[in-house]
Amino acid sequence: MNLLKFLVATIVETLLRVLPFPCKTGLVKIGNPDRNAPVLLTCNYHLTVERLRRALKGVDAYLLVANSRGINVWCASTGGLFTSHDVISVLKTSGIEGLVDHRDLILPQLAATGVESKIIGKKTGWKVIWGPVLAKDIPAFLQNKLEKTSQMRQTEFPPMQRIEMAVAWAFPISIILAPFMIPFWREAVFPFISLVWGLSFSIFLCFPLYSQWLSPEGRRVGFIFFDFGRGGFQLILWGAIILGLITYSMAVGDFRWGFILRWGFMSLIIVLLLSIDVMGSTPVLKSGLHGDRLLKIHLDERKCKGVGVCEQVCPRDCYEVDRDRHTARIPRARRCVKCGACMVQCPFDALYFQSPRGEILTPETVRRFKLNLVGKRLVKVEGRL
Ligand code: SF4
Ligand code: SF4
Repeated sequence: MNLLKFLVATIVETLLRVLPFPCKTGLVKIGNPDRNAPVLLTCNYHLTVERLRRALKGVDAYLLVANSRGINVWCASTGGLFTSHDVISVLKTSGIEGLVDHRDLILPQLAATGVESKIIGKKTGWKVIWGPVLAKDIPAFLQNKLEKTSQMRQTEFPPMQRIEMAVAWAFPISIILAPFMIPFWREAVFPFISLVWGLSFSIFLCFPLYSQWLSPEGRRVGFIFFDFGRGGFQLILWGAIILGLITYSMAVGDFRWGFILRWGFMSLIIVLLLSIDVMGSTPVLKSGLHGDRLLKIHLDERKCKGVGVCEQVCPRDCYEVDRDRHTARIPRARRCVKCGACMVQCPFDALYFQSPRGEILTPETVRRFKLNLVGKRLVKVEGRL
């Protein structure tokens, strides 16, 4: 794909990011791979495959594209749409087994919430190696003898990703709602679209300024308790807009309650649509809508053997593994986004979630039931039930 086509695909698929964009599954040759070439695997979300191809320029490798229903790796794995079954299927049908002399399979780290390395090993003989979070780090990872730095293992929310999220929210809201306004309030369409885009960019670009307040437990501001993940954030944002509307009306010397009420109501709808799940729109916080945002990750030290898979798959760098003493610790548990990757992959079931009421969520439950869009563990993983 040439640069122009790649740019067009990036723009279109970012504007419509809420939709799946499936591409062909199977085997892709990168450069001139020989029988010792690395074998990488990814999902069949079109933009992911194109970004990987660009990131791997100059590398000789085989790339397997598995069926994730056109959805990106993290969402599809966590939602039960990208499973061990899909990985096994592409390993068996692509012909890769006859092309290389080894059985090392590099999987994207963020697939660890849904694809089980133990099942892949048992059913195919391939050994799973968890690659970096970002495609751009793969060449360095390959050169570094398949060792990841801690930076390669972590998800952050950098400005470029925040811009993508702002666009991905603003575009569908504008094109779905603006046409309804044309018949009865035509002159408000342009201000409405500007408000949607302005608010969306403000919410995501200002994220570092308020993110510390989005902790799952909620915060106290003075004597008022705000659960920022569930309404507090939206209320403050809406209050600021109303204040802005009043200030604007007074500044232009044309204060009218009708204007404040109309645009106050309109901005409330936009704020709710844009920020209803601001925590879930980031990779660094658990969704505010999900009940399991209050779960805490725990380690059963009697079961832990210190093999360190948890450290390899945790996207928030919560773990420290002492390889001499064969034990792990979770010193940065506060950063946990409850993705469940460590629990799914721990070979000794040494990890579990605990709710504030003391209920235990076992590794087996996290493996079998994946999250649906409203945060319920309902999706049964193929081939396990
Ligand atoms: S918690 Fe599990 S994966 Fe992590 S070091 Fe212990 S045994 Fe290994
Ligand atoms: S510690 Fe939390 S963030 Fe890290 S892998 Fe486990 S569940 Fe995910």
